[in-house]
Amino acid sequence: MTEAFLPTATPAAVLGVMGGGQLGRMFAHAAQAMGYQVAVLEPSRVSPAGQVAEHLIATSYTDPDGLAELARQCVAITTEFENVPADSMAWLGERSFVAPSASCVSIAQDRIAEKRFFVDCAPASSVMPAPHKTIASYADIDAIDDALLPGILKTVRMGYDGKGQVRVRTREDVRAAFDSMGGVACLLEKMLPLAYEVSVLTARGADGQSVVYPIAENVHRDGILFTTTVPGPNVSAACAKQAQDAATAIVAQLGYVGVLCIEFFVLEDGTLVVNEMAPRPHNSGHYTIDACVTSQFAQQVRAMARLPLGEVRQHSPAVMLNILGDAWFEGDGDTLREPAWDRILALPGANLHLYGKDDPRRGRKMGHVTFVAPTLDQARASLRAACAILGIPE
Ligand code: ATP
Ligand code: MG
Repeated sequence: MTEAFLPTATPAAVLGVMGGGQLGRMFAHAAQAMGYQVAVLEPSRVSPAGQVAEHLIATSYTDPDGLAELARQCVAITTEFENVPADSMAWLGERSFVAPSASCVSIAQDRIAEKRFFVDCAPASSVMPAPHKTIASYADIDAIDDALLPGILKTVRMGYDGKGQVRVRTREDVRAAFDSMGGVACLLEKMLPLAYEVSVLTARGADGQSVVYPIAENVHRDGILFTTTVPGPNVSAACAKQAQDAATAIVAQLGYVGVLCIEFFVLEDGTLVVNEMAPRPHNSGHYTIDACVTSQFAQQVRAMARLPLGEVRQHSPAVMLNILGDAWFEGDGDTLREPAWDRILALPGANLHLYGKDDPRRGRKMGHVTFVAPTLDQARASLRAACAILGIPE
């Protein structure tokens, strides 16, 4: 269902979001700032987005009554997590305006479909994914081309933050890893010599217009995003252009509506390789809240409401640091203490975002801080000071 743009109106129109995590919370903040109300469908009664939304539908993501209520309340609906049941999105799409569509979401949820799409899109995007092979049986393992080893065995579905991945050197390793994952369908990817990792956020409207944000350079730690730096210290102008052009081609070929984040590898020889895409705003795009004219969340609201997409111009160099639950623990112990937010906020250019989660656990994303500054060096000086305050090794 597509129609003209949605006025915020009085009483305010309601925008719906599947999922109650931090991405939904920041989406709600942006929607509310533009005069919309927000409905969240999320099984838990207490969640980061549920705390701030005007309406909470506390059912499972497949509950017919919950979905019907969401469709009834909302003039447009999106998702804040990648693994939302695609069937639920399809059902909602028959009753409300849903962006991104169920078909786009289902490609991003399935590493095989995603890789196939990237290969099909290569004539337009000029980038290829890593060499790979589907592993669904022992016969597939026997048929592995040696050139794919060493590699990484990844589950086809439900992987995130490096979970559902095993590094493998030999065919025997692949067999053991395949068994350890319970024999579910997997993808074996060749291990590539990465120089660094980047991501590109793009947004496309229902009218086919698209915008692409500045390229972000990402550092991961233990499989979780650690920092995002924009402009990326390693990124050349040519690499940035190639990644941005590729993202524009990919979002167009998908016929996507909304914010899409595409992750790329840059290899030691400079080759750009497309890794995966997230059909929603992304952790590596949090810097846009404080450093760009239009944040990724405001952009998602605009795309859903069929309003003109906003300017993506970055007005300040920025570094984003994820704050994990680890920051609440002293050393390796298990005593909890509140991090020294007063000292973090005293640092130049600090913008603190906490997600309203009340039980810090190691490895759990609790918030982030973005440092903006006139120069990247100044932003990075604040980052170093913040790491020291939070007890995070640099
Ligand atoms: P997330 O959803 O958190 O982005 P994920 O669990 O879906 O992550 P990937 O992004 O595919 O998984 O991989 C996680 C990290 O593992 C990558 O950011 C990269 O550092 C490394 N990695 C993945 N695939 C390869 C590869 N083919 N060669 C080298 N390193 C890789
Ligand atoms: Mg990834």
